[in-house]
Amino acid sequence: MDDIRPEFPNIPGRISGLGRLAYNLWWSWHPAARMLFKSLHRTAWKESSHNPVKLLKELPPEILENAARDQEYLRHYDVVISRFQKEIGARGGWFPENIRSECPLPIAYFSAEYGLHHSLPFYAGGLGFLAGDYLKECSDLGVPLVAVGFMYPDGYMRQRIRADGWQENIDEPIDRDSALITRVLDDKGQHLVVRVPFIEPPIHVSVWKVYVARVPLYLLDTDIEQNSPWNRGISAHLYIGDIEQRLRQEIVLGIGGSEVLNVLGIRHSVLHLNEGHPAFALLERIRERIAGGTSYETAVEAVKATSVFTTHTPVPAGHDVFPFYLMDKYFGNYYQMLGLTRDAFFRLGVHPEDPNAGFNMTAFALRMTDYRNGVSRRHGEVARRMWHSLWPDRAEEDVPIDAITNGIHVPTWIEPKVELLLNRYLDPGWLEDHDDPVIWEMIDDIPDRKLWEVHYWLKMKLINFIRNRSRIRWVEDSVNPVNIVAGGTLLDPSALTIGFARRFAEYKRADLIFSNLERLKRLLNNTWQPLQIIFAGKAHPADDNGKRILQRVFQFAQDHSLGGRIAFVENHEEQLAQYLVHGVDLWLNNPLPPMEASGTSGMKASLNGVPHLSVPDGWWPEGYNGKNGWIFGSGEGEGRDDADALYSVIEKEIIPLYYRADEEGVPVSWVKVMKEAMKSTAPMFSTRRMAKEYAMKFYQKALASQDGVSGVCRP
Ligand SMILES: *Cc1c(COP(=O)(O)O)cnc(C)c1O
Repeated sequence: MDDIRPEFPNIPGRISGLGRLAYNLWWSWHPAARMLFKSLHRTAWKESSHNPVKLLKELPPEILENAARDQEYLRHYDVVISRFQKEIGARGGWFPENIRSECPLPIAYFSAEYGLHHSLPFYAGGLGFLAGDYLKECSDLGVPLVAVGFMYPDGYMRQRIRADGWQENIDEPIDRDSALITRVLDDKGQHLVVRVPFIEPPIHVSVWKVYVARVPLYLLDTDIEQNSPWNRGISAHLYIGDIEQRLRQEIVLGIGGSEVLNVLGIRHSVLHLNEGHPAFALLERIRERIAGGTSYETAVEAVKATSVFTTHTPVPAGHDVFPFYLMDKYFGNYYQMLGLTRDAFFRLGVHPEDPNAGFNMTAFALRMTDYRNGVSRRHGEVARRMWHSLWPDRAEEDVPIDAITNGIHVPTWIEPKVELLLNRYLDPGWLEDHDDPVIWEMIDDIPDRKLWEVHYWLKMKLINFIRNRSRIRWVEDSVNPVNIVAGGTLLDPSALTIGFARRFAEYKRADLIFSNLERLKRLLNNTWQPLQIIFAGKAHPADDNGKRILQRVFQFAQDHSLGGRIAFVENHEEQLAQYLVHGVDLWLNNPLPPMEASGTSGMKASLNGVPHLSVPDGWWPEGYNGKNGWIFGSGEGEGRDDADALYSVIEKEIIPLYYRADEEGVPVSWVKVMKEAMKSTAPMFSTRRMAKEYAMKFYQKALASQDGVSGVCRP
């Protein structure tokens, strides 16, 4: 069984490697490979949303033929393709060199979303980017991972803000034929369709594959003819609001996903669940062992010893709980195969503090895995408190939930111009060893002016990008001028610029900085030392509270008295996120503690010399060192004084520092904070450090106790 990567008949033989390269996301974090596509035709590259498959399909043959005769292009092509082939074909890496295991089977990683690139809209926010960055890193380190998720055919929605500030969602169905996904084929050469077992009436999924360098990602798609309309809609959107459809989504992901791996002949040694949505995969692991003749107790022990669960949500409402009547409807036949009574089965998912609420996916996953973690030190503490009742005999600090702090994939999030600067001043192997703090010490050798010039250029680039979007809306949609201003037309590159871009969930408090409007206005409208703030982010379509906060922020952006110094940029996605985390001066994060499990956008900013200004929540209590950014608020209680604390730190520390420039106009004291931000956060908050931690704390032990489902690995 194999997959096909469609041929591109228009590509001349001499550069036919472009086709294979296009279908492997490896290109997305290698600037030289991106340039290979971009230099074919800059405008077409932009119009394709940086999707090389679409680009290659649509380019006129002459352009490709010219490239195939251009000596300079060919030299560049040969270098990139040769490196690509070497890296993709390699077997080695940090993981095989450091983690000893007799078992050659891969680790299966399940997640409901993946943020890999803006042309693959299979994510909602931070959880997805974490998963996407993790796959890339596992490929870089040679971790033998196989990933499973959903192909959401309606992607996420494009966000449009109405004149009154209310968010509207426009579906943008994905064009499967020009997306960076390939069909997995069955023995007859047809698109592989798998039946989700044990569900009546049946649900079918077709299977797609994304190449994330060396890591394969299999995506399930229910939008196929074999399915009834209700079933077709299962994978339409991320996190469907309707509870029954949500349950069906998670059954398809966990149980259907396991079946897809079976049908593909992919057995796995260890299972890693990214959040509770795919936790039904644990049931399949248990059921298969029982079907092989093992007792329930032995099967559960074996599954626990080889399963890893990462929880991401300190918000109680963020955990999926399915009512028992729905569990009855879908699992009425299933629990018998496990040899369990209805009662014993439901008890696996009961939260002791609220036993009648239903089947709690997090409680279930915590019970059925031996390796569990929160995603920052602080979140580990919160999770131990939150789930203490599952281990009532233990002291809270002994609740067996560890912490592995999230990170970001450095090659993906470092801006190419910043990368070039680091190439000049750091050790030549810095990117290879970027989780080693020593490598970053040499940042101090970069002349302040050089770093500031690069930063200023990126800020101009961001503001031009935003203004250009507004211009397009103005020209094409005749949008009301007030909204064009709200979109950022009056942004000023010389003003201190704060960025705030994330999902508009209530606990993130996007409107905190508007708490004392008069005080804020004094900062915004200061003639000599102005402040401006750029907002972006989507509210979940079912979250009216989030939409109201967004509306409030948007109305401030429209307000004449705020001087056009508040901008709201529509449709936050990966590309805009890149511009923002590279181009603003300061990254603001003010959730209500302890609701932020980790947060990663501040890591992306700090890596590029954009310091973080945050409440002590998520990763920041670990990241902050007194010199690399700012912390404000108490981090406890209702957070009532957080706004005051925020204004104070901006007025007293940040503005004076930012506007204190030397005679050449370089704010040298500010640049010192920028450098400190880069060197103190980049190594620690990388997915490289994070993946190594998962490997050493969890995978190594889980691999040592693997039973490889009915002894595949153990002779
Ligand atoms: C990194 C990223 C996030 C995560 O942001 P946090 O609020 O810091 O968790 C969300 N959306 C996009 C597009 C991102 O790139």
